[in-house]
Amino acid sequence: MKVEEVVLNNFKSFGRKTKIPFSDGFNAISGPNGSGKSNIIDAFCFVLGTSTTKDLRADNLTDLIFQGDNGENPNFAEVTLKLDNSNGELPTSEDTVSIKRKVKRTDKGYYSYYYLNDNSVTLTEIHEFISEAGISEEGYNIVMQGDVTRITDVGSTERRRIIDEIAGVSEFEKKKEKAFNE
Ligand code: ATP
Ligand code: MG
Repeated sequence: MKVEEVVLNNFKSFGRKTKIPFSDGFNAISGPNGSGKSNIIDAFCFVLGTSTTKDLRADNLTDLIFQGDNGENPNFAEVTLKLDNSNGELPTSEDTVSIKRKVKRTDKGYYSYYYLNDNSVTLTEIHEFISEAGISEEGYNIVMQGDVTRITDVGSTERRRIIDEIAGVSEFEKKKEKAFNE
């Protein structure tokens, strides 16, 4: 499975609909300080629902909506992730999978919506879907700033837990524990 592109619309500093394509293999994003590189990574965490708002460097979800210098402040932010599933890692026969999340501000508060191939779904459904390809909140698919130093600082038990998580062992440990309890 591979990321084809991510589309940001009113997400953080991306006030215009911006498509970011990814090539095969290693991709690097470069740009001056404050140009929005980390905001692109935040967009991945936002659309996959794998981070808290604080981890996305915002006090609340509506802070993720673009705020322009000249007062521009649309009422929604949206991120779409397009994945190439031609190797069939994700549990669908479709070759391309699109995952979308939208946060919308209204008079009554704000709402968050998730979509899988344009069908409205819950966050749990997204998590179950992507976990088939080994993507999870604890999976270290996205290594955030500070994670590497944290791994070197923790004790051996915690470090072992992290390695088990990355190697995919802990999923079986959880299942084994569940089976023993039944
Ligand atoms: P560095 O090289 O310093 O890590 P970066 O390219 O990673 O920089 P980001 O952290 O992605 O930069 O972008 C920060 C910029 O995004 C700041 O200028 C901040 O004002 C802007 N920003 C964050 N949220 C919003 C928002 N809701 N509306 C408009 N701009 C925003
Ligand atoms: Mg940055």
